Amino acid sequence: MPLSVIDLYHKVLPKTNCKDCGFPTCLAFASMVVSEKLPLKNCPHLAADMIETCRKELDAQYAAGKWTKRDLASDALQWAKERAASVNLEDLPPRIGGELIRENDEYVLKLPYFTGHILIKKGSVCKENGELLNHWEQVFIFNHLSQGGSAVPTGKWKGLEEIPNTISKIKSMRAHVEEPLLARFSGKVEELRSASLAIGGTDMTETVKSTDLAFLFKPLPKIPLMLMFWEGDPKEGLNAIVKVLFDETITQHLDIESIMFLSERLRQLLCGEKK
Ligand code: SF4
Repeated sequence: MPLSVIDLYHKVLPKTNCKDCGFPTCLAFASMVVSEKLPLKNCPHLAADMIETCRKELDAQYAAGKWTKRDLASDALQWAKERAASVNLEDLPPRIGGELIRENDEYVLKLPYFTGHILIKKGSVCKENGELLNHWEQVFIFNHLSQGGSAVPTGKWKGLEEIPNTISKIKSMRAHVEEPLLARFSGKVEELRSASLAIGGTDMTETVKSTDLAFLFKPLPKIPLMLMFWEGDPKEGLNAIVKVLFDETITQHLDIESIMFLSERLRQLLCGEKK
């Protein structure tokens, strides 16, 4: 049977988050094994027969291309770059925000991104220190350049299921965003608060009173996200719930795939996962 990130995390890994594999959590490590083919034996706390059993399952799903991201990422990035190639950088600030600066006689768009800024030139996106963003970040940013309209967020929030044509993505949102966040933060609401503050979130818990935690994020100027978290009550049989909400204008700024990639980036940052 194929091993998803959640299968690996729940059924195989020790869930001690000891960091001996070089990742901050077992969940982050599981994600890299499934999507980036990182060897399972990099976790030194697994029995040899368990590694061997899983290796056969993982080899089969890698061969089938199931859940691996590398090829998919290259195609998606190439397509997103092609979409953005005809965009004139000088037209962007009124549409998507940011400011134009001059660098070596060419225009560069300096755009706020989470807690810092990114620099956008023709065909490239990087951080201010020159570090490249990961494939998936580049995909949603290039798509935002080509698609981003001038709509201003209205503050009306919607779950993914309320956005048209997202039915095929509901499961992905659960598997790649909500479940990993729950696995990492259930029973640890203060850790989620700290992680949210560390990536520039604004605590809205006092305003959104029906939740145990609510945070507003501004990954990009025209694209706010709201994270809502309910702790549940195991004694009452109530499980914790997490939801990512989007402003009703989001589809004027991002396509559905890019909404997923942005949501996954939020999960990575909150969980302290490497790229
Ligand atoms: S080594 Fe990594 S995967 Fe293994 S238990 Fe420690 S944190 Fe988890």
